[in-house]
Amino acid sequence: MKNKNNYDYLLSDLTNLSGVGKKTMEILKKKKVTNIFDLLWRLPKSYTDRSLARKIEELQIGKIQTVKIIATKYQFPRIRNLPNRVNCEDETGKIDCIFFNSYEGYVRKILPLNVEITISGKVSLYKNRYQMTNPTYISQDNSIIETVHNKYSLTEGITEKAYNKIINQILKNLPILDEWHNQKILSIFNDESWNSSIIKLHDPINIGNYKSDFYKRLAYDEILASFLVNSEIRKKIKKIKKDSKKFNNEAYDLILKEINFNLTKDQKKSLIDINKDLISKSKMFRLLQGDVGSGKTIVALISALNVINAKFQVALMAPTEILARQHYILAKKIFPKNINIELLSSKSENLEKIRIINQLKNNKIDMVFSTHAIFQKKIIFSNLGYIIIDEQHKFGVRQRKLLSDKGGKNCDVLLMSATPIPRTLTMSIYGDMDVSIIREKPNNRKEVKTYSKLESKIEDIIKFVKKEILDGNQIFWVCPLIEESKKLDHESTVNKFKFLNKIFPNKVALLHGKIDKDEKEEILTKFLNKEYSILVSTTIIEVGIDFPNANVIIIENANKFGLSQLHQLRGRVGRGSKQASCILMFKSNLSTNAKKRINILKNTNDGFDISEEDMKLRGFGDLLGFKQSGVKNFRLADPIQNEKLFFLAEKEIKNMEKKNLSIEKYKALLKLYDQADIINDIV
Ligand code: ADP
Ligand code: MG
Repeated sequence: MKNKNNYDYLLSDLTNLSGVGKKTMEILKKKKVTNIFDLLWRLPKSYTDRSLARKIEELQIGKIQTVKIIATKYQFPRIRNLPNRVNCEDETGKIDCIFFNSYEGYVRKILPLNVEITISGKVSLYKNRYQMTNPTYISQDNSIIETVHNKYSLTEGITEKAYNKIINQILKNLPILDEWHNQKILSIFNDESWNSSIIKLHDPINIGNYKSDFYKRLAYDEILASFLVNSEIRKKIKKIKKDSKKFNNEAYDLILKEINFNLTKDQKKSLIDINKDLISKSKMFRLLQGDVGSGKTIVALISALNVINAKFQVALMAPTEILARQHYILAKKIFPKNINIELLSSKSENLEKIRIINQLKNNKIDMVFSTHAIFQKKIIFSNLGYIIIDEQHKFGVRQRKLLSDKGGKNCDVLLMSATPIPRTLTMSIYGDMDVSIIREKPNNRKEVKTYSKLESKIEDIIKFVKKEILDGNQIFWVCPLIEESKKLDHESTVNKFKFLNKIFPNKVALLHGKIDKDEKEEILTKFLNKEYSILVSTTIIEVGIDFPNANVIIIENANKFGLSQLHQLRGRVGRGSKQASCILMFKSNLSTNAKKRINILKNTNDGFDISEEDMKLRGFGDLLGFKQSGVKNFRLADPIQNEKLFFLAEKEIKNMEKKNLSIEKYKALLKLYDQADIINDIV
């Protein structure tokens, strides 16, 4: 009997399945399959049709076939290593079943004499006799065999036969769940229920049928589940009541007098978003997303000064000391002199640190710039109202929630990310946050000119570099990561350093992964102070640091990088007023496909467009290493193939939020799709 609405069956572990012993369970556990639901997503890759039983005279050599036979005689050889043989026949001919490594008792049991038995396996011809060696299936019950058997990409240690048995019993017992979608959504998927969709998913005729209604429905379920969780988190954060921050235009006017440019439309728009949140009575949890060089810092600093004017403290957290210092120096320059700001650095003298910590506690400091050190327990704010976190894309949903909690109820949170990603990904990754996007670049910016060059033309490049150095410019020389070996990676930079150092003695600095953090910061500071002209490095140079004097970046073996990554690297130059260039070096002539990729880079400077193209070319998993960064991995849904479904889910969620609809109806969906824990944690 089917368990109506009982999703507990799907969430139960594998112990109750027949055919799953301790060993199988261990094997599956290693593959992160712990309950029945997990097993549903391991899809058949191909299948074997054993449905048609043939007569012996119709058998085809070399193919997997099914045949009904009667065993007539056993031949158990007395010599070791010779196989056991059973002579079998039907009314049209004879066939032998051959068993290697088998016991007599076993053979007698599965192939008793003079009984009709169905066997299935590959048929061969030996000394003019048909034979079947170690038949895959032998049974007196032909219905078990005469069917289509799915092939799954099998985990070592589990046979196809065992696996099919497991999946088939699950499908047979699949509960019929109450529909969680409304009729309007459901009709988009031609009314495919969850239950029927799962059955179809495992039906071999549907292998690879990604465009069918059942498949889309299941993908949509998954997307919606993840968006619902995000929506709940967002609602939960919105419910936190805080004191409104009261300020006027003073900060904006003051800072605009200090800088020699106007804000772009997108900068203004983002600032309005942020100010609205700050003034409101609910907590801000917002992402400010904008390409490298789009001018996020100034937006953050103006909003920070607003908060200070509203008599709250502000903390800015940067990923590195240099970045923290750079922001601090800028603030020092543009903030009114009566505002007390400090840089809390791990390099500060102890006494200095103690002073800052004390003054933060006593509300003597208005704003502190630091690294993640700001989260130490001993650092206590008197009246923290705003945390700004620069250049992050590595926090997961949970960590962000912790972060927001840590600041206390009055603390608004702004995350800044310089990683432009396609909309569907932003929805999936940052769905728990409100998002402001700076898409437009400051208009004084000259586009970085992008060239491609063959490695054999290095002499030309050196000539170019010489000229740039004479003009007082600085150069980044990026060697690619060599994935196979960290050692090679390191060597390639060292070799390039040696090569360049001969040509430009004392003008070249070297950075790679083996250099420790402090030394790295020292080298970068020296480069920033123009003590070197060329910096040879792997891709470890921080994205956010402003090197206004560096206007050439040379990227070796550029086809090793994805488009987004090349774009990020390119963004490290062109921050000053001079024309900047990016030279992509290639080992050999470019393929048509590679040319297409490079042309995208040459023709556009919009990180969002580039990431969109990049994702289409490489899939989202590879995009800037998102797979490793705690981003939810969808089982079926794909941000490229199912783009429309992502937008559909977003629309549905917005509608639910607007109408304040309860998520009760989606309880089963959320429980099943492994999101319920997060909901419980958070809501
Ligand atoms: P990012 O978004 O990468 O953090 P920054 O805030 O570091 O970018 O800005 C890069 C550079 O652009 C800085 O030198 C900044 O002073 C300058 N800048 C920011 N906004 C504008 C603007 N509207 N017009 C001209 N220059 C700007
Ligand atoms: Mg920045």
